Amino acid sequence: MMKKVVNTARQAFATGRTRSLDFRIQQLQALKRMIIENDAEIKKALNADLHKSECTAYSYEMMGLLAEIELIIDNLHDWAAPQHVKKNLMTMQDEVFINYEPLGVVLVIGAWNYPLVVVLQPVLGAIAAGNAVVIKPSEVSEHTAKVLEKIIPRYLDKELYPVVNGGVAETTQLLNERFDHIFYTGNTNVGKIIMTAAAKFLTPVTLELGGKSPCYIDKDCDIDIASRRITWGKFVNCGQTCIAPDYVLCDKSIQGKLIEKIKETLKEYYGDNPKESPDYERIINKHHFKRVLNLLEGEKIAIGGEHDESTCYIAPTVLTDVKPEAKIMQEEIFGPLLPILTVKDVDEAIEFINKGEKPLALYAFANNKKIIKKMISQTSSGGVTGNDVFMHFTITELPFGGVGNSGMGAYHGKHSFDTFSHKRACLIKSLSMEGVNKLRYPPYSQKKVEWAKFFLMSKFSKKKLGLVLLPFVAIVAALILKKYRWQLAGRGLQLALAFQRLL
Ligand code: NAD
Repeated sequence: MMKKVVNTARQAFATGRTRSLDFRIQQLQALKRMIIENDAEIKKALNADLHKSECTAYSYEMMGLLAEIELIIDNLHDWAAPQHVKKNLMTMQDEVFINYEPLGVVLVIGAWNYPLVVVLQPVLGAIAAGNAVVIKPSEVSEHTAKVLEKIIPRYLDKELYPVVNGGVAETTQLLNERFDHIFYTGNTNVGKIIMTAAAKFLTPVTLELGGKSPCYIDKDCDIDIASRRITWGKFVNCGQTCIAPDYVLCDKSIQGKLIEKIKETLKEYYGDNPKESPDYERIINKHHFKRVLNLLEGEKIAIGGEHDESTCYIAPTVLTDVKPEAKIMQEEIFGPLLPILTVKDVDEAIEFINKGEKPLALYAFANNKKIIKKMISQTSSGGVTGNDVFMHFTITELPFGGVGNSGMGAYHGKHSFDTFSHKRACLIKSLSMEGVNKLRYPPYSQKKVEWAKFFLMSKFSKKKLGLVLLPFVAIVAALILKKYRWQLAGRGLQLALAFQRLL
C-alpha cells in the first residue's frame, strides 16, 4: 500500500505540474480555503485531542498557518527566481546563477502536541518549493489526524499530496520507501530511527526534535514580568510545547518571590481552579499522564500537584530546590511541571547548561543585556529569546530548528522554501574568450599559471573601480593571450599587476 502511495506521488511529480509557480500558489490557496471552511471541525478535533479552546485552537494553530500561506504567496515569485551571483574575470561574459529546484517526493511526519500546525507548516514549505508530499500526521492526536485525512484530499491534488494515517507499523513501512527528503517532528529517539532509515537511500533529513530548554533568571531582573511570561510559556498547552521552558535556574534569594509571583499569575490566567478554565489544556493520553506524574516522585511541590487520571488533568505545578540528579532533570518534561534549581550566578548557570545536550530553546531574563549576550555567546541552542519565552519562534525571518540533540535543519518562511529546495549551481558559458580558456588546456607552463593566478585570484575593489573596467582588462588580456605572444603577455601581466596594485 505504501509503495503504491509513494509511486503515485512520484509519477504525479514526474508530470512536471508542480514546476509551475501558479500551480503551487493555487494549491496553497486551496489549503487556506480548507482551514477556513473546516474551521469548526478542526477546532472540535483539537478540543477532543488536547482540550484546546476555540481561541487557542485558532491562535496557536490555525492563525500561524494562514499567515504563513499569505507570506509564501506574496513572496514565492521572488524566492523561486534564479539568483544571480557575483562573477570574476573568468566568468565576466557568462551567466552564473542558483536555480531553486524541487527535491521530488518528500515525507512529512508530524507530532501530536500542536497536531495541525506541526504537520501542515512544513507541508506549506514543501508545496511552495514544488515537491510532492506524503503527509503523515501523528496517530497520538487521532481526532486531528482523522480530520486531516478526510479534508486534505478534498482541497489538494490527491496524487501529489496523499495523507497516510497509522502508527509505528505504518510509519515503518513508509520509511522502507525511497524519499527525496524526510521532515520529521517528534522525540530524539525516534529521530534516530528516522535518520537510520533515511541513510539507506542517502535521503537528507530535517529533524525537529526536543529536549530540556533552560530558563535562567538573573537576580537583577523584573521578576514580575519574568513570572508572567514564563508562566504563560510553561503552562500553555499543559506544558506540551517543544520550546516550553523546561526548568528554571535562578539565585536562591529570588526563588521565594518567583513562586509567589507565579502563583498570582496562575490565578489571573486560569482562575482559582485551572481544571475549570476553558483555557487550560489536558495531557494528550494516559501514557503521558503517568509518565509526567512519575517525574514528581520525591520532589518538593510549591504550587499545584493536583491531578485527575480520568480526564488526564495535571494542575500547573512548580517544584523548588530541585537537584540536578533528580529524575525530573534527566528527560524532557513535556508537561505542566516547572522545577526550579538554584545557582549562584550566570556563570554557574552557563556551566550547568553546557553539561547537558544542546537544547532547542534557551531563555534568559536580566535587566542587564550584557548578561543575556554572555549567555548567548557561551552556550548553544536551536534558538534564544532574551527577556521572554517562545517569541523567536514567531519571527518568520528567523530559522526555526534545533542543534545537536535537539535536531538538524530549520524551517519557517523562506527557510522552509530553502529546506525543500535543491540549490542548483548553474553556469552558462559564453562561447567567446577562448583565448583565456587556453590557460586551462595543456601544454602547461609557468606563464599560464601566472595568468591563471591573475584571472582567478585578483581582488578588485568595486568601490574604487566599478565593474566597468574589469571586462576591459579581461578583453585586453584575452587578446594578448590569443596571439600567444608570451613576451608581450609577460609585459601585459606586469602592467595588469601594476594596475591591480594601484586599486
Ligand atoms: P509522536 O509520538 O506523535 O511521534 C512523532 C511521529 O513519529 C508520529 O507521526 C509517529 O507515528 C512516529 N513514530 C513514533 N514512533 C515511531 C517509530 N518507532 N518508528 C517510526 N515512526 C515512529 O510524538 P512525540 O515524539 O511524542 O512528540 C513529542 C516530542 O516532539 C517532544 O520531544 C517535543 O519536544 C518534540 N517536538 C518538537 C517540535 C519541534 O518543532 N522541534 C515540535 C513538536 C514536538
